[in-house]
Amino acid sequence: MSKHRIETTCVQGGYTPGNGEPRQIPIIQSTTFKYATSEDMGKLFDLEASGYFYSRLQNPTCDSVAAKICALEGGTAAMLTSSGQAASFYSVFNIASCGDHVISSSAIYGGTYNLFAVTMKRMGIEFTFVSPDCTEEELNAAFKENTKAVFGETIANPALTVLDIEKFAKAAHAHGCPLIIDNTFATPVNCRPFEWGADIVIHSTTKYMDGHGAAVGGCIVDSGKFDWTKYPDRFPGLCTPDDSYHGITYTERFGLAGAYITKATAQLMRDFGSTPAPQSAFILNLGLESLHLRMKQHCANGQAVAEYLEKHPKIAWVNYSGLKGNKYYELAQKYLPNGSCGVVSFGVKGGRKAAEAFMKKLNLIAIETHVADARSCCLHPANATHRQMNEQELIAAGVPGDLIRLSCGIENAQDLIDDIEQALQNI
Ligand SMILES: *Cc1c(COP(=O)(O)O)cnc(C)c1O
Repeated sequence: MSKHRIETTCVQGGYTPGNGEPRQIPIIQSTTFKYATSEDMGKLFDLEASGYFYSRLQNPTCDSVAAKICALEGGTAAMLTSSGQAASFYSVFNIASCGDHVISSSAIYGGTYNLFAVTMKRMGIEFTFVSPDCTEEELNAAFKENTKAVFGETIANPALTVLDIEKFAKAAHAHGCPLIIDNTFATPVNCRPFEWGADIVIHSTTKYMDGHGAAVGGCIVDSGKFDWTKYPDRFPGLCTPDDSYHGITYTERFGLAGAYITKATAQLMRDFGSTPAPQSAFILNLGLESLHLRMKQHCANGQAVAEYLEKHPKIAWVNYSGLKGNKYYELAQKYLPNGSCGVVSFGVKGGRKAAEAFMKKLNLIAIETHVADARSCCLHPANATHRQMNEQELIAAGVPGDLIRLSCGIENAQDLIDDIEQALQNI
């Protein structure tokens, strides 16, 4: 499948039916799988044979969809998770534990920030947050003896900063660490971070990949390129025997292509169990089949709306990396030449109050905490997701009090503009 171009992989990747088999991916809605002998089963538990035994660890429907996303990103192995949050957590916890340190871009999704800065901190993992715009020197200075990974978002939600992936990959590799990229907003249709040096990619598939607001989910993909065995002391979980799996050493048994994802499945999924339902994986796959078409329309609508807003006398500012004057225009041209995403942020003149008044007047565009859906929606983060922050904290997070996050769907661009225009006229 990986020989094909991305549009073909969106439609047909991950699953190739044999003669007389279902054309669509079958939903294997079964918790368990039957075997003739205990010996057969034992081999599966020892990871000596591959096969399914319990859907908390692996399920054929979920694996087919993971294989599609793996092919889209150009990776060697992938796993689905029940949410994007679970994917973020596993991606880091698979290689960092109590006493370790991780570097993250400060421009990341609020839920990820909380996971890192509060919950994983309580687990004894320390995070240093660096500006995505930091210099190489500043980035290099953030590393410590116990740093295990570097994390960032291709396009940050909701700040919409574009990450210089090559800069982050170079620093990570110079310090013997993998770069983990959350590629949710760009999707592999618009950016494949492995081509720029990233080692692990994660997704909230809840967003564009599903794209219909139907199923919460996540995915982790490994490029298979990071050589854990060069740093056995830094990554003992991958390079030394796992007592909970009869002394298997993941890098020896599964090679660089499979070690990271096999460990995440065999240990983390086994113990934490954030596995998606096969039905949800099936819904996700329906979304993936049109991802390449939808992303084009999301980006075209985002661009049209951003250009309209930029010229409007009632608009204070617009942030969209497709606009020529945008701070991230150059980086977007490099990493996202076919378009970034459908999310545009802006401020209405009159600040916080004007933002609230404007949003009340919208008809077609709905107020939701969601983004990256076929239907256009918007959110005032200072009043919703970032409600607990004060004015200073909001600015540090790249989310000023007047910021409206507008997620352009795949409707007609002029209809979206008309809705915004009438709302602006009415405030
Ligand atoms: C939504 C989102 C997440 C979290 O994903 P869920 O599926 O909601 O758990 C992570 N990263 C980014 C960039 C997101 O937009």
